Amino acid sequence: MPERVRRLRERIAAAAVRSGRSAESVTLLAAAKSQPAELIRAIAGEGVRDIGESYLGEALGKLAALEGLPLTWHFIGRLQANKTRPVAEHFAWVHGVDRLRIAERLSAQRPFHAPALNVCIQVNLAAEATKGGVSPAELPVLAGQLAALPRLKLRGLMCIPPEEADPAGQRRWFAQLRRLQEALNAGGAGLDTLSMGMSADFESAILEGATVVRIGTALFGPRPAKLG
Ligand SMILES: *Cc1c(COP(=O)(O)O)cnc(C)c1O
Repeated sequence: MPERVRRLRERIAAAAVRSGRSAESVTLLAAAKSQPAELIRAIAGEGVRDIGESYLGEALGKLAALEGLPLTWHFIGRLQANKTRPVAEHFAWVHGVDRLRIAERLSAQRPFHAPALNVCIQVNLAAEATKGGVSPAELPVLAGQLAALPRLKLRGLMCIPPEEADPAGQRRWFAQLRRLQEALNAGGAGLDTLSMGMSADFESAILEGATVVRIGTALFGPRPAKLG
């Protein structure tokens, strides 16, 4: 585990430097779905502090088991409207917001004592039916609506683009998300987060400006079929 984390950090740092940025400008988010709490504890011991969870039931058990560790929890899965409350109560970030109704519920349910919930809007760049996210055309309106919600802080954009075999193809998708963010910022949105890149394509994402890479298998190894 220490060796794998070290190698991954080296690759992230090298890509960041190639993109003209410092290694610290890219956050390694551990995508921990299906991985047991003890593996999260192990990578936390290596200094990985941002943890992404995709399945709420599984996540709440791990949050309880690891209470007291200095971790930042990110919800990166698809969120149903009837499951927003525990996310609003227990997570610091939600990466896949794509509907006003979900955002309104998260804002209303965010506890008063907690800081505003950080959110990224998911964009479905290739209009894939199997994936969540708004279309690029819908993005500006949703961004304006979210920015007005009192207990949310709109931080940026997130995408899960189609798989591409070569880096040039990967980079085209990530460049699209970066340009959408630049357009919103030109209008004063003040977004600082691009959540893009996974095990197979994070270097391409960093070269196009990713500030958060969500890495599962390259960090933990293959996912177990089932948690338990
Ligand atoms: C599982 C997952 C990842 C990580 O995927 P890997 O290919 O294992 O790195 C990243 N983002 C989301 C939203 C995921 O569900």
